[in-house]
Amino acid sequence: MSAARPSVRLPDGTVVPALGQGTWHMGEDRRQAAAEAAALRLGLDLGMSLIDTAEMYGSGGAERVVAEAIAGRRDEVFLVSKVMPQNASRAGTKAACERSLKRLGTDRIDLYLLHWPGAVPVAETVAAFEALRAEGKIRLWGVSNFDVEEMAALEGTDCASNQVLYNLEERGIEFDLLPWCAARRMPVMAYTPLGQGGRMLRAKALAQVAARHGVGPATVALAFLLGRPGVISIPKAVREEHVRANAAAAEINLSRLDRDELDAAFPPPKKKKRLAML
Ligand code: NDP
Repeated sequence: MSAARPSVRLPDGTVVPALGQGTWHMGEDRRQAAAEAAALRLGLDLGMSLIDTAEMYGSGGAERVVAEAIAGRRDEVFLVSKVMPQNASRAGTKAACERSLKRLGTDRIDLYLLHWPGAVPVAETVAAFEALRAEGKIRLWGVSNFDVEEMAALEGTDCASNQVLYNLEERGIEFDLLPWCAARRMPVMAYTPLGQGGRMLRAKALAQVAARHGVGPATVALAFLLGRPGVISIPKAVREEHVRANAAAAEINLSRLDRDELDAAFPPPKKKKRLAML
């Protein structure tokens, strides 16, 4: 692992890798679990030591895959999981966290997020998070899929991060949410950074930039996000070549020309757009 791997500082001073790993769609098929855990372990070996999961993924199956991946190396990992909004009451959050800890085979979650805004008042979920923090079951808490107006309700709290959809095709947060978080030194976690491996990666501009660096388009898509201060990307990959291509993004520095070509193909927002989500 190179010493200069890009990293991001959370508001409490904790430094985490700017390139982590996602787990959505893992743990859905027991026959794939060993390959999924092996992919996550390879990612850890390559320095992508932040793992993002959620109670929702595979109805707990993804957390079980993560448990298998991190067995014996828990201290290397910055572990992120999420509570679903329907469980996010005071008592429900505590119970959900305890179920997640059990599935994850650990005694603590490093960052526990509210998966998206729901019917429970956010102040109640925050109180539950703070109680879990006091018990040592979580180290930090944050939110996901919160737009600027929803973030405003968290002003003055210890919210550590907001995890949102952010990739070359979905740059809306650059207009307002990203600056809002940056002003508060709160990192944003970019989910679906590869556009789920679909159309975005087939764009001509990405191929052009990728060819100059001798890498594939996914590596450039991640390098673009790594070039933004305060952004943590969490690509999900099971195929070994995908894991390696993603890790390689940490070694790429995009030039002015690269950035101009990407901006021309994927223009940054000129006005407020509602937060996009999956
Ligand atoms: P990604 O943008 O990470 O894309 C994942 C897909 O891209 C998979 O099919 C994967 O294939 C493929 N892929 C991975 N690496 C490469 C590569 N180098 N080249 C080509 N294809 C590649 O999508 P996700 O939606 O999974 O987002 C990432 C993570 O963000 C999730 O796994 C989850 O942890 C989190 N998330 C959070 C949400 C929220 O509401 N908070 C919502 C959505 C995601 P394969 O697996 O076969 O290797």
